[in-house]
Amino acid sequence: MILFSCKDASRTMSAQRDRPLSFFERVSLTGHLLVCAACRLYRRQIAVLDRWCRGAGAAEEASAASINEKTTDGLTPESRERLRLSIAKAAGDTQP
Ligand SMILES: [Zn+2]
Repeated sequence: MILFSCKDASRTMSAQRDRPLSFFERVSLTGHLLVCAACRLYRRQIAVLDRWCRGAGAAEEASAASINEKTTDGLTPESRERLRLSIAKAAGDTQP
């Protein structure tokens, strides 16, 4: 069995995020990771970066969704409801 170099391993770990690996790539990468602590560390680091990127992506989507639910007056449904309750309360306070 031919083992990957560190360069091959890092390239394959990057490719793994975009496409499924071939049998040869999986076997060679696994073999390399068994003997190379530096690449095992690299694999952990890219996993952490992936999680951070996914987290940032999710936060961005949530922010975009929140902007989308604003209406033309720029208020979210929650803000509009709070405003409506405040007005109703103020109006109730002035009535006898
Ligand atoms: Zn290596």
